[in-house]
Amino acid sequence: MSYKSINPYTGRERKTYGNISNSELDEIVFESSRAFLSWRKTPLYKRQDLLNKLADLLEIEKEFHAATITAEMGKPVSQALAEVEKSALACRYYAERADEFLAPRKHSSSSGSSHIRFDPQGIVFAVMPWNFPYWQVIRCMAPALVSGNCVLLKHASNVPECAVNIENVVTKAGFPVNVFRNLFIDHSQVEKLIESDYVRSVSLTGSNVAGEKIAAAAGRNITKQVLELGGNDAFIVFNDADLEKAAENLVMGRFQNTGQSCIAAKRLFVHEQVYPAFLGLVTGRVKALKAGNPADKDVFIGPMVNEKAVDEIEAQLKKTLEMGGEVVTGGKRGKEGACFFEPTIVVNTPWDSPLAREEVFGPVLPVFSFKDYEELICRVNDSRFGLACSVFTADNKLMEKLSGDIDAGTIVFNSFAKSDPGLPFGGVKDSGYGRELSEYGIMEFVNIKTVSVF
Ligand code: NAP
Repeated sequence: MSYKSINPYTGRERKTYGNISNSELDEIVFESSRAFLSWRKTPLYKRQDLLNKLADLLEIEKEFHAATITAEMGKPVSQALAEVEKSALACRYYAERADEFLAPRKHSSSSGSSHIRFDPQGIVFAVMPWNFPYWQVIRCMAPALVSGNCVLLKHASNVPECAVNIENVVTKAGFPVNVFRNLFIDHSQVEKLIESDYVRSVSLTGSNVAGEKIAAAAGRNITKQVLELGGNDAFIVFNDADLEKAAENLVMGRFQNTGQSCIAAKRLFVHEQVYPAFLGLVTGRVKALKAGNPADKDVFIGPMVNEKAVDEIEAQLKKTLEMGGEVVTGGKRGKEGACFFEPTIVVNTPWDSPLAREEVFGPVLPVFSFKDYEELICRVNDSRFGLACSVFTADNKLMEKLSGDIDAGTIVFNSFAKSDPGLPFGGVKDSGYGRELSEYGIMEFVNIKTVSVF
């Protein structure tokens, strides 16, 4: 296996990178373990300064980084720019707040005079996906590095230039050598690395298939894990909602990144009283979305990551239509290129169809109507996933009730779901475990050490 950069819009192969050997991998792990010994002793303010420098560079060089994202995985460039800016924001967030999060805390107990300190663990191994190729890496790397860990990255095999760029910009920011390293390795080497005594945590963002494999390897080696996996998030519109605002948010929530987002709004539930009006509003907006060359700033729908991804959603849609679903708009491959699929809305979606039950990683939205609250909760929670949920309503009491009743890591009212550096992010059920971002995210990468003095 090798790392291939192929532009999904042009189909052109850009560059191939060979994997490193096992002995090279051993050497890098050893060097990283040596780097850890001095990095953990580097004063926190210096680590914070470096993270701020990294944020500066990402902001200064954002056009370059965004262009690489667009060329490697097809994200429309205006969205790629927003991703790089958000990555810089996450660096700033941890640069500004790490001393507060990592300050030792007095803790009252019956065990003498006690306090808690937050020490680094060692090497954090980040296994990352292609769909947000900067953001996913940086939301793991920033808290891990600032708390004194070293980070080894195994990025998805279709975004090698993003991986190289990230390593280069970290070096340029002044982080010491071997504190952060990119690795071109295959799946068996991922397992080998998890077996290393130096690797104390593994953080995977990716599919459930990868989650099962990595969790099993980490389990065998008693290595701490953070798993950020798939989703099939609900987007709920009640009859008192601001329908225009809900429609605008839904289109962003489902179709940005050409539908290839873990927290995309993947199932729409609309109160029956506003169902026809809302469906009309959303359909109009979806039909107006501009598809085309992702390097054009006014394009919103780019190519999907590759033809295999198009085949997969086409098969999920076909099966759903055979079971009784009906297309309102879209429904076929796009005319702009081999990796395009039209933004699609499906109604009368059978509950046991792929569009209702599986994660659909592309621009396809199944719609359901609901009448009463209990039926809605049953349906929303009847999913193996539980990442996030968006709800549009003006009723504060209803918000409180829903907050408790929905099984998800995040519930957002009157906006589409998106992550924020200052808020914990993660899932329940098959969407994974552990949290990223905020003070909860940094706690995943530290040894919460109890100190008692009698
Ligand atoms: P993926 O195929 O699971 O790949 C993710 C990473 O895991 C890649 O680096 C991949 O390497 C590696 N990997 C895959 N199988 C592996 C195995 N058996 N052993 C070791 N490493 C393995 O996922 P993807 O297609 O890139 O990303 C899409 C999925 O990620 C979706 O399900 C999406 O919902 C999920 N996701 C979740 C979040 C979240 O925060 N919860 C965020 C974004 C995406 P190779 O590329 O070399 O196979």
